[in-house]
Amino acid sequence: MNKISIVGAGRVGETTAQILAEEELCREVALYDVREDVPAGIALDIYQTAPFFEFDCRVIGSNDPSILAESDLVVVTAGFPRKPGMSRSDVLAANVEIIDQVTDHIVEHAPDAMVLVVSNPVDTLTYRVSQRTGWPRSRVFGQAGVLDASRMAAFIAQETGFSALDITTLVLGGHGDTMVPVPRFCTINGIPVSNFIPPDRLEAIIERTRKGGAEILALRKNSSAYDAPAAAVATMIDAICNNRRRLLPCVAMLEGEYGERDVAMGVPCILDEGGLSSVVELELNETERADFDRSVAAVREDIGRLGSLD
Ligand code: NAD
Repeated sequence: MNKISIVGAGRVGETTAQILAEEELCREVALYDVREDVPAGIALDIYQTAPFFEFDCRVIGSNDPSILAESDLVVVTAGFPRKPGMSRSDVLAANVEIIDQVTDHIVEHAPDAMVLVVSNPVDTLTYRVSQRTGWPRSRVFGQAGVLDASRMAAFIAQETGFSALDITTLVLGGHGDTMVPVPRFCTINGIPVSNFIPPDRLEAIIERTRKGGAEILALRKNSSAYDAPAAAVATMIDAICNNRRRLLPCVAMLEGEYGERDVAMGVPCILDEGGLSSVVELELNETERADFDRSVAAVREDIGRLGSLD
């Protein structure tokens, strides 16, 4: 890609910019934020790491949204993170206003870009961007499942002592307490995790995964997670930039898959140079289906609140 922009030069945005530059996933990374001078300062700071990390990627920042012009992809990390004790839905009202403003900037300055939504509640805000732009789902999608799956993989690595490299996990559904970790599809180099972890410990890991963000928030105290979230975003971008056709859980607008439409949900997707090129449908068993339905209902509840916020 030539240019990737990041809207919201906060913790997730800044960390994402550093990874994109270090990995040279594009020629130019642009940061936009409303905090006076901050995006320019962050961009300079990151660019000055170029000699150390030996990257050849320009990094620029501005308070002027026209910096988004000619972006191939825009990552949206603008918005309030939750505070300890809050759910992601608690920041909906504040973040909808921000996301609408940001969406209008993207439509005006980067009308051909893909949009990768990170701001929370990410499922509902991905839906919002999709509705406001009217763009196809291949170009508007969100990050949640890559992070949730990496959290689950980390917990399994800690539990078993195996390398995190060998662990594959899958988390579906909304990015909230109703998310659906699917142990049936979790393996250690192809061997089902149930071979290594007793049911009660696996259940504890599933529950810990659901609360993975809150755990970090409680420990960090004045910040929600941003290292792993930024790495998850960069993983999705790498799949797109390098046309890898990776199968990754993404927040996608459903168009009849899983029996749902007009809702954005975490489902396995193929990411390639065209963005989110397709949704992969899995045959869910009864329990998984019930959990998925509960998760859809929770996201729909938030989507239902959007009308009253207009
Ligand atoms: P942060 O407070 O560090 O950064 C947010 C940035 O957005 C700030 O710099 C702020 O100035 C900027 N901003 C606010 N309004 C703006 C506007 N109208 N235009 C441009 N920029 C604007 O927060 P953070 O920790 O980086 O988190 C950012 C968002 O990402 C939060 O909503 C958080 O909940 C979410 N998040 C999502 C995931 C995920 O997996 N989807 C993971 C972590 C964080």
